[in-house]
Amino acid sequence: MLVGVPKEIKNQESRVGLTPASVKELTLRGHAVLVQQNAGAAIGLTDALYAAAGATIVDSAREIFERADMIVKVKEPQPQECAMLRPDQILYTYLHLAPDPEQTKALVKSGAVCIAYETITGPHGGLPLLAPMSEVAGRMAVQAGAAHLEKSKGGMGLLLGGVPGVAPGHVAIIGAGVVGTNALQIAVGMGARVTVLDKNVERLRQLDLVFGNRVQTMYSNAHTIEEAVLDADLVIGGVLVPGAAAPKLVTRAMVAQMKQGAVVVDVAIDQGGCFETSHPTTHEQPTFVIDGVVHYCVANMPGAVARTSTFALNNATITHAVALADKGWRGALAANPHLKNGLNVCQGKVTYEAVARDLGYDF
Ligand code: NAD
Repeated sequence: MLVGVPKEIKNQESRVGLTPASVKELTLRGHAVLVQQNAGAAIGLTDALYAAAGATIVDSAREIFERADMIVKVKEPQPQECAMLRPDQILYTYLHLAPDPEQTKALVKSGAVCIAYETITGPHGGLPLLAPMSEVAGRMAVQAGAAHLEKSKGGMGLLLGGVPGVAPGHVAIIGAGVVGTNALQIAVGMGARVTVLDKNVERLRQLDLVFGNRVQTMYSNAHTIEEAVLDADLVIGGVLVPGAAAPKLVTRAMVAQMKQGAVVVDVAIDQGGCFETSHPTTHEQPTFVIDGVVHYCVANMPGAVARTSTFALNNATITHAVALADKGWRGALAANPHLKNGLNVCQGKVTYEAVARDLGYDF
């Protein structure tokens, strides 16, 4: 198969779909790989490294979209990329379609076979291709939140870990999945007081066993969320209802009552966000302020640590990329029901139930 890796064009995105090591996995099996010039240059993955791994370097994204049987990317295709997709061409990347009717329409129109990293399941449950980026975003959420609690960044001027004789800050984490657990690890490590809320009591039980009384676990409902949010200095939103838009758990009224200079980091913004006051931001302008509360809502947080993120992502994506290249999409999807769960749009139809339901397509 001919596999193509275009340079990412979303704002501030330096990650790349395949590392040179992943290219080598494919070329050693007899596949050919086209990589756009400078696709990985920003993170030290030079054209020379790709060429040494067996890739052919090409000048333009257009050439890749015209020739490749499968396009491997990181972020959802931008409108000009959607317009270049061809019927039956495989698109293997993050899509996050539920909150994005325009992209969904464009992918349906393209006739391409669009496999979304974020809905591929794993043999032991969970979403293994979302997990590495959630690990990165969860760890970064505390780092970003702590930085924005500083006065110069709009925050209340609070050091999250406190100092001897001064109480630490309070971090409330909504959602105890991969994002929440990684945020919790860093927040505990920084010496903050931490509350974590989830609807899954089994998950809270596991965290209680690991972290003991260094964290407070709470069953998530409107009452406990309000209680935690109003007391917190930093609130991190990491909830997920797979494939669907995030539930708005923190209302505008709650934000209005939060402490002045508190910070919210809405990691779930890529699924629409779990704060009623959120809207997506970029690394260039990561925050905005509503009712004195700093909102950090960057939709591609791992893009800021693109080198770490690219390697972590490739560790999770390469096995399916190889299967798709070896067997074609029909063969690979028939052989693996978990990969099949990644199919979101196929030859003009929305094929993922939650996306079809949210956006009003037949399923
Ligand atoms: P996950 O499935 O591991 O965890 C989600 C958790 O949310 C689960 O434990 C679930 O029980 C919990 N949950 C669901 N409804 C809830 C409710 N009403 N109250 C409290 N908890 C609730 O998912 P994850 O990997 O941690 O990802 C979380 C979100 O972060 C996703 O939307 C993901 O797309 C997003 N994400 C964003 C970025 C970014 O750059 N902004 C990066 C990575 C992941």
